[in-house]
Amino acid sequence: MLQEARNVLKTYFGYDDFRKGQVTVIEQTIEEKNSLAIMPTGGGKSICYQVPGLVTSGTTLVISPLISLMKDQVDALTSLGIAATYINSSLSNEEQRERLNALRQGRYKFIYVAPERFDSEGFLRTLDSITLSTIAFDEAHCISQWGHDFRPSYRTVVERVKQLSNLPTLIGLTATATDEVIRDLQQLLNVNDAQVVKTGFARDNLTFQIVKGQSRSAYIEDYVRLRKDEPGIIYAITRKQVDQLHFSLKEKGLNVSKYHAGMSELARKEAQNAFIQDDTTVMVATNAFGMGIDKSNVRYVIHYALPKNLESYYQEAGRAGRDGAPSDCILLFSGQDIHTQKYLIEQSEMVEDKKRQEYGKLQAMINYCHTDQCLQQYILDYFDDETDAEDCGKCSNCKDDTDKVDRTKEAQMVLSCVKRMGERFGASITAKVLKGSSDRKVKQFGFDRLSTYGLLSGYTEKELVQFIHFLVAENFLVSEEGRFPVLRLGKRAVDVLKGTAPVMMQVAKVEKKKSTDYDGTLFEKLRTLRKELADSHGVPPYVVFSDKSLTEMAS
Ligand code: ADP
Ligand code: MG
Repeated sequence: MLQEARNVLKTYFGYDDFRKGQVTVIEQTIEEKNSLAIMPTGGGKSICYQVPGLVTSGTTLVISPLISLMKDQVDALTSLGIAATYINSSLSNEEQRERLNALRQGRYKFIYVAPERFDSEGFLRTLDSITLSTIAFDEAHCISQWGHDFRPSYRTVVERVKQLSNLPTLIGLTATATDEVIRDLQQLLNVNDAQVVKTGFARDNLTFQIVKGQSRSAYIEDYVRLRKDEPGIIYAITRKQVDQLHFSLKEKGLNVSKYHAGMSELARKEAQNAFIQDDTTVMVATNAFGMGIDKSNVRYVIHYALPKNLESYYQEAGRAGRDGAPSDCILLFSGQDIHTQKYLIEQSEMVEDKKRQEYGKLQAMINYCHTDQCLQQYILDYFDDETDAEDCGKCSNCKDDTDKVDRTKEAQMVLSCVKRMGERFGASITAKVLKGSSDRKVKQFGFDRLSTYGLLSGYTEKELVQFIHFLVAENFLVSEEGRFPVLRLGKRAVDVLKGTAPVMMQVAKVEKKKSTDYDGTLFEKLRTLRKELADSHGVPPYVVFSDKSLTEMAS
């Protein structure tokens, strides 16, 4: 049977070998075992149900939340001489009826539908009357309430499917799945551990970069101009950002389209087609754009603003380089975006539990922007990808355009301050205390009387907030997300406070920070501080801060 699958792969699709993971899913499906296939974007998930569909008898039903993609997929199959069709709301009632009839007569090998189709009794009756070999759930993460794109209507489909008189083999396919989502999908689709097929998530042809501290619009202008013949996508969070960016790029004579939910359907369709057919090279869009867009030659994806989580980020960034050619994924980081994203979570109608979860995911996204680990590796770790990939060697963290500087002393001061403030406050007020701000809230809580007050007055509040985020990313601090995020000492904090572990931070080589001047009262403050710290951590005072570092700091 597998040989037959190979022949099908060659004769229909023209490929010599299956990719990693495809064989297992195909074998399982042919043996009528359910599967859950977790493969990166562009990994070749379609083949996983298309090949078994061709070697087994009966019809394969593909459920996809992406109406825009159905036609493309069906056209692709039809052009290969395969009997395929779709039934969705874009068709007239007459057309729908005709296709349902043909389906009843077993004339299709593949039929694509959206989850909503399952609301139709007529459709369900038809399904019951035909020989279905397999049902494939594309973009299966949308079924799970833990998924980043949960669609309640998709979840009910699973129950309807299970009521079919002849339950076919099920395949769930997704590019993004955390452990929670996987467990949820396993349970829903009856997939045991052995039937979960997870290929590595690494996308070797992608180069990840984080850009901080630059004018974002200027960066984008330069970048787009530099690569003006190459297709690229720029993602922004709000429609307003999209409109502004689009306007300014267009004004510079660049060949851009835009896409967001505030535009008419026609305008969106035109923009999308122009981009797909290479009539325009750059697409400026909100995350409304891209789900199910099959454009393989996207050479770069720039995120103008921080995405809400890594699931979304990796999926959006992953639209670059689906053809396997080298491509860039650039995230322009600015601290303000954190507030925007938090605001969006806070304003949403999610239940508290879900909100807390979203805050947690946002924090992981923020951490990505501050880590000094290999960026590809960070993403793989996040998705619990066990493939022990080596550092990519080309992301902005791997590439040696940064210097490591010792920030141990500053870290000790921040950690002490968090401790002194009772581990009950967030980054912004902590930064104010360290800065020595005369903010009303600081005074109200009596923080201006703390020994850590004004300890890092040589930095701006913004720098301090960024530094705190860095400490969170590196597990020196924990940011507990809730309605108000709260900083607590992390698992690596004690060693830093004891002076037994350094805190090294990467800074860009060009703009290496001058060491900060401290005022003369520091010595006194530190003396009190180290005694307090010593008491609270049960270590002798002299190991908390060495005299050498004290003198250095006081000088
Ligand atoms: P996904 O749905 O996982 O994002 P697709 O199914 O759209 O990915 O496949 C991405 C690309 O990879 C397509 O162009 C597809 O033809 C190609 N592809 C899939 N399987 C193979 C294979 N075994 N060998 C070569 N190319 C493949
Ligand atoms: Mg796909």
